[in-house]
Amino acid sequence: MSQVKILLDESDIPRHWYNVVADMPTPPAPPLGPDGNPIGPDALAAIFPDAIIEQEVSRERWIPIPEPVRDIYRMWRPTPLYRALRLEAALGTPARIYYKYEGVSPAGSHKPNTAVAQAYFNHKAGVRRLTTETGSGQWGSALAMAGQMFGIEVRVFMVRVSYEQKPFRRSMMETWGTEVIASPSSETRSGRRILDSQPDSPGSLGIAISEAVEEAVSRSDTNYALGSVLNHVLIHQTVIGLETKKQFEKAGDYPDVIIACCGGGSNFGGSAFPFFADKAAGRKVRLVAVEPESCPTLTRGHYAYDSGDTEGLTPLMLMYTLGRNFIPPSIHAGGLRYHGDSPLVSQLYHEGLIEAVAVPQRTTFEAGITFARAEGIIPAPESNHAIRVAIDEALASKRTGEPKTIYFTLSGHGHFDMGAYDRYFAGQLEDTSYPDEAIQAALADLPKVARNPA
Ligand SMILES: *Cc1c(COP(=O)(O)O)cnc(C)c1O
Repeated sequence: MSQVKILLDESDIPRHWYNVVADMPTPPAPPLGPDGNPIGPDALAAIFPDAIIEQEVSRERWIPIPEPVRDIYRMWRPTPLYRALRLEAALGTPARIYYKYEGVSPAGSHKPNTAVAQAYFNHKAGVRRLTTETGSGQWGSALAMAGQMFGIEVRVFMVRVSYEQKPFRRSMMETWGTEVIASPSSETRSGRRILDSQPDSPGSLGIAISEAVEEAVSRSDTNYALGSVLNHVLIHQTVIGLETKKQFEKAGDYPDVIIACCGGGSNFGGSAFPFFADKAAGRKVRLVAVEPESCPTLTRGHYAYDSGDTEGLTPLMLMYTLGRNFIPPSIHAGGLRYHGDSPLVSQLYHEGLIEAVAVPQRTTFEAGITFARAEGIIPAPESNHAIRVAIDEALASKRTGEPKTIYFTLSGHGHFDMGAYDRYFAGQLEDTSYPDEAIQAALADLPKVARNPA
């Protein structure tokens, strides 16, 4: 009989994170300073501890996971890999569907995998205070929990639309001892600049990042932590994919396709990069990033140097971008509404080594509900994007009769997003595709640097 849950022992928690840079055919493009020249690692020292900067620029394949971090991982890791037998039956597909459930973490998503690591490295460097941004609140709550574990005070700038839509995420952060501020706020110069021209701005991740970075730069006791996008974050998230590989080995199977939703890229990178190592060694496996049609960064964005925040406080990174002034439609997958994407994910996509697909909002909820009715777990709206594509793959398999092994990462549960499900059931969710004019207009906003690809 097939196992429904493929479980590992705590001793199977990886001892090293995997760094995909070691297996990339071309080295990553360097981040640039405001003058258009590559920055040195020291340019990041105002907001990150040395250990994290080293990981950010590392080309080593394996990076040791400190024991205190593994110790905390043991509270919920290894996470289960499920064989979705009931979903397969409901779809009538010959495909085998597997998913790894990251919603078993205390914060309910994959985000604590990096939050705990970042809090640890900051604590070790003597940092007492961290600022960050959060979209729908998953990252903010992960860092709130991790900060608490290492005695670090955390201050979260939360995108205003989510601050209002998701009051219980705020309560979670406050329970873990964190102060939450709606962004744009009047507490920073960046926030005030936006409020002056747009007093009821819904906010965006780009604006919230500006506020959090501004505060970290201006205070010597304060560092900044980012929940996605940067290389070190994707490195920490590879515990997902490394465990998945062991679990597939245990199940005696191997995926034809790895599917994960992609906002800033840490869930996708963490899930898919360990399989990229196999692909680089000649094994056949497809890696598919899924994004919302309303924020189509990889599929319709420009591949160009752009800043990570609205104000232009971060270094310029070569990535797919919709422009730093992008204010996304207020869809419910708040975690997928960033204007840019991980430079590593962007480069691999640009080189044709991974795939990306954009899906409209309503069909993602339809897929999430099909999943919940078969498997029981109610997925986060972000995760519904991956489920949509996994179900489509399984239905394609049904049409051709060709059995296939499909994997997706269930990046979190939807318990704090039931308002979004309510709106879906009430027929109030819309499919908003991002207008071409706005995508063209973003071109004019891109920083003028000589290294930008034409
Ligand atoms: C944040 C989040 C995402 C998107 O994550 P990235 O790593 O930035 O791509 C996906 N799913 C859930 C549940 C999230 O909280």
